[in-house]
Amino acid sequence: MNLSIPLNPFRTFGGAKVPHRKHTASSASEVMPLPEKVRIPMQMHIGAPCKPLVKVGDQVLVGQKIGDSDAFISAPVHATISGKVTAIEKMVMTDGKSVDAVVIASDGENTVSPDVRPPEVHSREDFVKAIRESGLVGLGGGGFPTHVKVNPPVPVDTLLINAAECEPYITADHREMLENADRVIDGMFTVAKYLDIKRIIIGIEGNKPDAIRLMKEKLAADERNKNGMAGVLTLRAIYPQGAERVLIQAATGKQLNPAKLPADMGCIVMNVTTAGFISDYLKTGMPLITKRVTIDGSAVATPKNVIVPIGTGLEDVVAFCGGYRDEVREILLGGPMMGIAIPSDDFQIMKQSNGILFFGKKEAIKKRLTACIHCGTCVTVCPMHLEPYALEQNFEKRITERLRKLAVMTCIECGSCSYVCPANRPLVHSIRLGKGLVRKEDAEEKAREEALKAKTEAAIEAVEAESKENP
Ligand code: SF4
Ligand code: SF4
Repeated sequence: MNLSIPLNPFRTFGGAKVPHRKHTASSASEVMPLPEKVRIPMQMHIGAPCKPLVKVGDQVLVGQKIGDSDAFISAPVHATISGKVTAIEKMVMTDGKSVDAVVIASDGENTVSPDVRPPEVHSREDFVKAIRESGLVGLGGGGFPTHVKVNPPVPVDTLLINAAECEPYITADHREMLENADRVIDGMFTVAKYLDIKRIIIGIEGNKPDAIRLMKEKLAADERNKNGMAGVLTLRAIYPQGAERVLIQAATGKQLNPAKLPADMGCIVMNVTTAGFISDYLKTGMPLITKRVTIDGSAVATPKNVIVPIGTGLEDVVAFCGGYRDEVREILLGGPMMGIAIPSDDFQIMKQSNGILFFGKKEAIKKRLTACIHCGTCVTVCPMHLEPYALEQNFEKRITERLRKLAVMTCIECGSCSYVCPANRPLVHSIRLGKGLVRKEDAEEKAREEALKAKTEAAIEAVEAESKENP
């Protein structure tokens, strides 16, 4: 197998040209002062929610574990400030689920827990265990527990560092590379060491020349790279270049079958800030308690990148950015392409937050919705080779069988189709709901099968019992 670093990205299908609107790219990150309180949800990851390990009235210290779960796919949660637990309350998440949240009132001391110390790591097993204890999840927005990712069931040979950051406005990863290049490089070599990975590719969109230059310089000077196992791949600046499957194709030339995982192609894809965190964590033992978040949008007085304790209220973060200068028309958790709209700023910074956009009059232009004109543009931009217009039509008619045939579940919800549609069809919204219909149907089918199985087993047991009584 050829494990050289590709000089140019392999061709990927589709993609939309989105404006390179990155107002905060050249402003250094600022550390936010301690908030008076934090509200930390027990689920900031894909998988099972954590259960609180503390109760109201407890004193907690920075880095102390306050939530955990026995489930494999989950990630523990830690106190991000020191102080007193004043409430454990329900918090409604963006998917409508209600989870427990631990509210901590700051004591202003920020005292670090004695449990915070560098983990002892001598083997791959230790490494995976340590990563789990750190509470790390994919920091690019996915929220997949990293300890699961770094423990693939099959051998992998390539670590793909995702530094594409193709969503407009968001610059948090770009700042990570410029401000913490050494820790990024150290983190990725550390992952490669424990997973016995032979090749590292850092994928960066060509519109970040300063980050590309810096990463190349650092790699050239690093002893660990004397065999050239790590390199930078300059990606085409086209959305969604940072989508996992698109990135794999750009870096390896291989198309990932929708039913397969990156590990099946010999790859692990890791966000660049996630790699940086791993380096720091192994040196300090401080779990994931802060997050760099891009705050932008015309309604905010001073857009910036802010390093914030997880659980801080959006209201406090906006106040740190000078408050509002315009009426807020829309708040998005994430970028304009894939972000989720929330009704107010009564929400918290979470592990997977990378950008919060506060749109005012300037951005919130309502576009007129018209009927599909069958131009096919949505098909040409879809990186997953789907037919978005047909998916929307079949969702509207609730024909789940057709939705399945059209491979609705392979949609990565990148939003490219909605973005280019001249009729302003809300395609990704309909597709998301269509996926929900299919999931609901699958769950009902599974419940029916289980009920039938239970009924059959009960009938067999009854017959067996009877035959024992009346042999
Ligand atoms: S881009 Fe819009 S108008 Fe064109 S085919 Fe797709 S849904 Fe229809
Ligand atoms: S159908 Fe899904 S994957 Fe394809 S462009 Fe639309 S949102 Fe992206």
